Amino acid sequence: MTSPSTDEPVPASRAEALELDARDPLAPLREQFELPEGIVYLDGNSLGVLPKAAPARLARVLRQEWGAQLIRSWNAAGWLDLPARVGDKIARLIGAGPGEVVAADSTSVNLYKVLSAAAGLQRSDAPERRVVVSERTNFPTDLYVAASLCRERDWRLELVETADLPARLARGDDVAILLLTHVNYRTGWMHDLAGMTAAAHECGALAIWDLAHSAGAVPVDLRETGADFAVGCGYKYLNGGPGAPAFVWAAPRHAAHARQPLSGWMGHAAPFRFAPEYEPADGVARFLCGTPPVLSMAALECGVDTVLAAEPLGGMKALRARSLRLTGAFTALVDRHAAAWALRVVSPREPERRGSQVCLVHDAPGGHGYAIVQALIARGVVGDFRAGEPGPPPCPDILRFGFSPLYTRFVDVWDAVERLAVVMASREYERERFRRRAAVT
Ligand SMILES: *Cc1c(COP(=O)(O)O)cnc(C)c1O
Repeated sequence: MTSPSTDEPVPASRAEALELDARDPLAPLREQFELPEGIVYLDGNSLGVLPKAAPARLARVLRQEWGAQLIRSWNAAGWLDLPARVGDKIARLIGAGPGEVVAADSTSVNLYKVLSAAAGLQRSDAPERRVVVSERTNFPTDLYVAASLCRERDWRLELVETADLPARLARGDDVAILLLTHVNYRTGWMHDLAGMTAAAHECGALAIWDLAHSAGAVPVDLRETGADFAVGCGYKYLNGGPGAPAFVWAAPRHAAHARQPLSGWMGHAAPFRFAPEYEPADGVARFLCGTPPVLSMAALECGVDTVLAAEPLGGMKALRARSLRLTGAFTALVDRHAAAWALRVVSPREPERRGSQVCLVHDAPGGHGYAIVQALIARGVVGDFRAGEPGPPPCPDILRFGFSPLYTRFVDVWDAVERLAVVMASREYERERFRRRAAVT
């Protein structure tokens, strides 16, 4: 059976789901991971799963490199090269060249660096451009950091609804920077990266992209699209582990002269010259600040390797095709019960606008989204909940399900919907224990 709107396969039974998995050439990629028995993990967009290679790698870094070799490991074990080496690997996943990406710091910190760098580039030739445009539904940390940059410079952060972005940019002679997240964390909406970048450039603005929900999930071609800067997250679809370092990309045309404000010694042209004056490294290395977190970096490299393992099987393009099939099947199966369950799929149905997640809204009075997710977790289906926002226009509470194309199978899609059916039919979500909110949702 296929979905009428997209031609994606929709299993009609558990047996059919298993059959689709058996025929899937990407199925062996799942063996790279330690997945807990009996769990359907649909939260790889929040925290990717543990690569089997990571525990041994970390043990080696601890016992041999740190324990036995001590400080010699900065050279002998290549510790100092980790930001560039892991950066080069990530570059292959986002359409960047070697030497264009470094792994470092957090997404929030990297965002501050690239926003400042872009602002510096703009100010030199266009002092009247003092607006950063973003979306109200963008991830909060992106907005907080952008607001902070604007406060420092006496600039203005303007939050625009997604649909109004093209019109705002069309009269954008005051816009310095367009800051967008490629795939929206809450709605699953995926921007036309090339189109929005072109629109930004047309009005004279620079385009900064947050690839937190893209890297490792959807193909990105940074060079081809002409973007200016990009940042992204290591612990989501890249499976780098909790709090993994993030990454930063600067277009080669900017990397040699853009200045970022956190000029630490690791971004110096020659850190071990210990010169009193700062001289930025030639390329993207100038976006480094302090000493790399070696343990986290080693785990991140294991995570990135799990995505690169798909290269001989068709790489990001093949992973994307699988992700669309998975999200398409989940959407179609939920659609069948939508009316009975008062659950509505709100993530985009068009493949070109859909990230690697499916978002649902519970339309019943009061909405029981949080409790439904908790009841599902108790039944072994791990998704998450993102609280809405009153607006205007209002943004509803979202039940969010991420589909990492590396380890999610059709049978997981089938089982998740089956268990959702139990939760909805029995109204399990009305139980008190599922309604109490924890600190992390
Ligand atoms: C996950 C995510 C972040 C995370 O930022 P940290 O600095 O790692 O906490 C930032 N931006 C977006 C869009 C995200 O989805």
